[in-house]
Amino acid sequence: CGIVGYVGSKDAYPILIKGLHRLEYRGYDSAGIALINPAGKLNVYKSKGKVTELEHFVEDKDISGTIGIAHTRWATHGEPNDVNAHPHYSENGSIALIHNGIIENYGVLKAMLAEKGYTFRSETDTEVLVQFIEYLHTENRCTLFEAVQAALNQVIGAYAIAVLDRTNNDEIIAARKSSPLVVGIGEGEYFLASDATPIVEYVKDVVYLNDGEIAVINRHKPLKVVNLNNIESKIDIRKLEMN
Ligand code: GLU
Repeated sequence: CGIVGYVGSKDAYPILIKGLHRLEYRGYDSAGIALINPAGKLNVYKSKGKVTELEHFVEDKDISGTIGIAHTRWATHGEPNDVNAHPHYSENGSIALIHNGIIENYGVLKAMLAEKGYTFRSETDTEVLVQFIEYLHTENRCTLFEAVQAALNQVIGAYAIAVLDRTNNDEIIAARKSSPLVVGIGEGEYFLASDATPIVEYVKDVVYLNDGEIAVINRHKPLKVVNLNNIESKIDIRKLEMN
C-alpha cells in the first residue's frame, strides 16, 4: 500500500502514476488518483486491481492538473472493490483524501456524522475521516489544515494521509502517525510519498515527517510542519543518496 502526491508546475498525472508503480512492491489490491484540473474541478478515478488497470480506466478521462494525490490500497475495512478504493471524497465533493492505516474509532465518528445527515458510499474507515474533516471544516469555518488537525486530535489509530480541497488548488495537507511519509522539496514543487523511491529521480532534498506531524504543502510557500498540539516543527532537510 502506498501514497504519492505532487504539487508544482508539471502535469501531476504521470508523476503520480510512476510513483504508484514504484510503490507496487509494497503490495495492494486497488489503486486511485485525485486531481484538481485547471478549471478547479476535482476528478477522482479509482479501480480495483493493478495500477495498469487504473491507467486503462482513465484513458478517455480528464487527467489534467498540476496538483494531485494517488493511492494503492491494502483493504482492512470493506472488501477490495472500486467503491472502497481511495481517494474518498466528502459529502459536498470538495475534499478528497487517501489513507494508509486504520481509523480504530471510525464507528463512533460514523454514527455521530450519520446523525448530522451524512451518508456514506463505501464501507471504509477512511471515508468516515474525510467526512469528519468536511464536517469540522464547515462547522468551525476553519482552514483545511485546521480541520485536519482537529479531526486527527479525535482519531484513534494509525495513518498516513494526504488531503486535497478543490477550492484551493495550491495545497496538499499530509499527516502521519505510525505509517511513514516523506516530502520531497523542489523548485516551486513538492513531492509526497510513503517512502523515497517515487521521489529520488526528481529531488535530493527530503523531509521525513515524524509521528503526529501535519505538513502544509503549498506550491507558493515554504514547507510548514506542525504537530497535533499546534507546535511548529523545525524543518530538518535530509539529502537523498542516489545509488
Ligand atoms: N483502512 C483503509 C481501508 O481499508 C486503508 C487501508 C490501507 O492501508 O491501504 O480502506
